[in-house]
Amino acid sequence: MSESFNYNGYIDQSLARLKAEGRYRVFHDLERRAGQFPLAFSHSTGKPVTVWCSNDYLGMGQHPKVIAAMKAALDRYGAGAGGTRNISGNHHAVVELEQLLSTLHRKEAALAFTSGYTANEGALAALLSHLPDCVVFSDERNHASMISGIRAGRSEKHIFRHNDPEHLAFLLKNIPVSRPKIIAFESIYSMDGDIGPVAEICDLADRHGALTYLDEVHAVGMYGPRGAGIAERDGLMERLDVIQGTLAKAYGLMGGYIAASARIIDLVRSFAPSFIFTTAIPPVLAAGAHASIRHLMESNVEREGQQRSAAQVKARLKAAGVPVLDTPTHIVPVPVGDAALCKLASDKLLSENSIYVQPINFPTVPRGAERLRLTPSPLHTDAMIDALVQALTHVWGELSLQKAA
Ligand code: PLP
Repeated sequence: MSESFNYNGYIDQSLARLKAEGRYRVFHDLERRAGQFPLAFSHSTGKPVTVWCSNDYLGMGQHPKVIAAMKAALDRYGAGAGGTRNISGNHHAVVELEQLLSTLHRKEAALAFTSGYTANEGALAALLSHLPDCVVFSDERNHASMISGIRAGRSEKHIFRHNDPEHLAFLLKNIPVSRPKIIAFESIYSMDGDIGPVAEICDLADRHGALTYLDEVHAVGMYGPRGAGIAERDGLMERLDVIQGTLAKAYGLMGGYIAASARIIDLVRSFAPSFIFTTAIPPVLAAGAHASIRHLMESNVEREGQQRSAAQVKARLKAAGVPVLDTPTHIVPVPVGDAALCKLASDKLLSENSIYVQPINFPTVPRGAERLRLTPSPLHTDAMIDALVQALTHVWGELSLQKAA
């Protein structure tokens, strides 16, 4: 009898490769405590740490209105969703959340998913597989969730150079106007913090008869007078066919969504596997998200505080000679350019300074573009910024990392 496959050996080999490249991810055992963000307790170091890499950009995960809404919803509705949306999980709180999302983005309808990932995956797969002979045009830096949806849609695809409308125009001109097509892109690319040319892409879509699909995951809650994102800020919302977002970053919770015409929402609701075959988001989450979105539709205090904090961190780091990518957004990438050094810098910040910044390595960014990604919030104090600048300056010197030009 032949020997059975050496499963453990192959699994160990794959993990050893990651470790050898310095790309092995170590979970940081963190305890966020309501009312203390951006401080958290680290069970890895046994000490409090200042979190500088949270995607809870505005601290809404601990906002009193959000917590109160969730506590009230828990008492009123209980804990779970009860099923998929089709089978007993269509809770009224989720319907209300979708109504608010459609108002936020000024679309006829919206559809809530359990994450931004499943929203992209399901919506793109459903649209691409139901429009006959559809072609998709996708920015080369699109998020893994869009790539997954595009793969599942099995349509012809063209990748355009990052934020390059000229290259997109070149690719579009080979496809007849009458053929269905979708242009899928992001407003804010989360690793470089740059902004997509939304208006130019909408112009191209008009000219070539394409639908536009915009991922605003890193922009919702953060930009525009009501926090509806970059498309709202730039007066472009009505030019986008599908706006996709998350409840997990600026809104501080969990879940994702798309907003679009009632017809598109009906198609996705009816055909997206990642919507149909999974339990609905629980009413507690829907109620919390509703409170968070409502608050950020009316309040600019958090957005303004966040922008101030980001500007201060960028200026202070540059002045100290620590390199910072010049972003027009709230994201502050600090390039390192080497996976092992990036991890070492992050480890030192944590163990010596109680500053938590996760290293960002391949495949999240290309090899050679490894970095620390700082996300200042309105709740980081001047003293925390001082401590960050001091610690980064020290680590940069100690590891002889590349200085700012
Ligand atoms: N789209 C982009 C651009 C993202 O960066 C992310 C997550 O980081 C997602 C979608 C997925 O969102 P979620 O975290 O809600 O699943």
